Amino acid sequence: MIVVLKPHVDAEREAQLIDWFKSLGLGVHVSEGQFQTVLGLIGDTSSVDTDLVASLDIVDTVKRVTETFKCANRKFHPEDTIVEVGDVKIGGGNFTVIAGPCSVESEEQIVGIAKAVKAAGANMLRGGAFKPRTSPYDFQGLKAEGIELLKIARQETGLPIVTEIMNASDLPLFEDVDVLQVGARNTQNFDLLKELGHVKKPILLKRGIAGTLKELLMSAEYIMASGNENVILCERGIRSYSDYLRNTLDLAAVPMLHELTHLPVVVDPSHATGLARMVPPMALAATAAGCDGLLIEVHNDPPHALCDGAQSIRPEEFAKLYSKIQAVREASR
Ligand code: PEP
Ligand code: MN
Repeated sequence: MIVVLKPHVDAEREAQLIDWFKSLGLGVHVSEGQFQTVLGLIGDTSSVDTDLVASLDIVDTVKRVTETFKCANRKFHPEDTIVEVGDVKIGGGNFTVIAGPCSVESEEQIVGIAKAVKAAGANMLRGGAFKPRTSPYDFQGLKAEGIELLKIARQETGLPIVTEIMNASDLPLFEDVDVLQVGARNTQNFDLLKELGHVKKPILLKRGIAGTLKELLMSAEYIMASGNENVILCERGIRSYSDYLRNTLDLAAVPMLHELTHLPVVVDPSHATGLARMVPPMALAATAAGCDGLLIEVHNDPPHALCDGAQSIRPEEFAKLYSKIQAVREASR
């Protein structure tokens, strides 16, 4: 249930109302907007008399919400969430480009790529240290050493760092990481999501390999209901009937998610297509579709990359793409 309060209500009256809802065994999610406050009631609201609540003089409107996701629901929180990572803002009209190699391979590689993508305009550096690979015989990432190398790249460039966490027991290693990524294979690892709800760091949550939008939102809900509201959603393509591409990029997910949720939505055209030459057109299409940012794999030497070389673009290609992205943003304003 959603209770929208009248503008500028007395704080004491608001607190009394919240306490009353809590005494009925309900959770209360408070969203302070610029003009009005929205109370989202979580739990079994069937015994709450909506007419009685609506009749209170501090209440503007009361609505029952049937969707299963609450904290992530735009009805609970009408204004866009802006996730802040240092000086970088994601969501609410800001556009954030996250770039870097699939895997951190060496200091020279990650620092070189970080400098190149920064010079081209990227806002954050992403590189995998813990890699979820389909085959146990493939490169599994440099793990703790990879995180240390990302920190060196951050020191050299000032770019905040994003890297994937696969297991909550590794959390101490991620203490100094700016954004934790949950990969497509872990989108429904509910124990991991709950643990990330206790972390006060932004989470980049990818859509599951065959995940629906509702499943993605419910995964975000796990993190938010556990106390962490800094969630960035990522559309990275889903498994479908596509034969020549790694996945099918679901571009309509962008405006639909914007309708359903206040959380920022970024698009990953690299994993969505699996082919470097498909990345620029899909990045531009995603920008036109209104995403809040992009996650793009960039490698200095794609043929020799230890992971995802086929879908990695070179720094020069990234720089060209970056200016086209700005042109599309300008044109769709
Ligand atoms: C990745 O970001 O390198 C990755 C493994 O992506 P996904 O989880 O989307 O497959
Ligand atoms: Mn990858």
